[in-house]
Amino acid sequence: MNSALGIGMTSQRTRNRMIDRLRDKGIIDERVLAAMAIVPRHLFMDEAMAHRAYEDTALPIKHGQTISQPWVVAKMTEIVLQYQPKKILEIGTGSGYQAAILGQLVDAVFSVERIDNLTRTARRRFVKLGYRNVRTKTGDGFDGWANEAPYDLIIGTAAAEKIPESLLSQLKPSGVMLLPVGDSNSQNLIKVTKTFDGYESEILDAVMFVPFLQGTIRK
Ligand code: SAH
Repeated sequence: MNSALGIGMTSQRTRNRMIDRLRDKGIIDERVLAAMAIVPRHLFMDEAMAHRAYEDTALPIKHGQTISQPWVVAKMTEIVLQYQPKKILEIGTGSGYQAAILGQLVDAVFSVERIDNLTRTARRRFVKLGYRNVRTKTGDGFDGWANEAPYDLIIGTAAAEKIPESLLSQLKPSGVMLLPVGDSNSQNLIKVTKTFDGYESEILDAVMFVPFLQGTIRK
């Protein structure tokens, strides 16, 4: 049965073992670990994959996309919390898992996904799990979600070829954008800070994500 409680490989005990492993791998923010101990990752993927949900690995979801590796989600979330954001825009909803984790820790999460089918599946999960402060819509992430702007922070969960300057207008003054930038050979996690006359950027870490693509898919 695919319930939030889970059994066997999807049980709370298995989830707790994932938390122990994240700790071993250097995740120290207890707020992040607590959120990841609560959110049932096995419900953010197809049932056939659920028995692997608490392995520390990215797993395939539909449309050739992936649910990010737990360690990556934890690390990104740790960095996000350093800026104490209240309202976040996520680009690349995918399974909805990263958005759900953020939703445990900040006031509101708005997430944009280009593949409508993934958007609808993620939205069903948020409703079912009662994550009322997490919303998703289909769109090209590079257009952001203007109606809900401005955001304290924007997080990208796919790699952009270059810094998406178009999104700066949806950030509050001094707001931060955190996203992987690069191609399939080399990517860095970049922190972009909005300044009064533009932005400053800083390289945080080498990473590997699926690419951002242009345009939406509705089917
Ligand atoms: N945050 C997700 C990870 C998803 S992988 C999770 O926790 O599961 C990245 C996602 O970004 C994919 O679903 C992909 O379809 C989406 N994506 C790629 N380019 C995009 C764009 N231009 N706008 C919005 N979403 C995009």
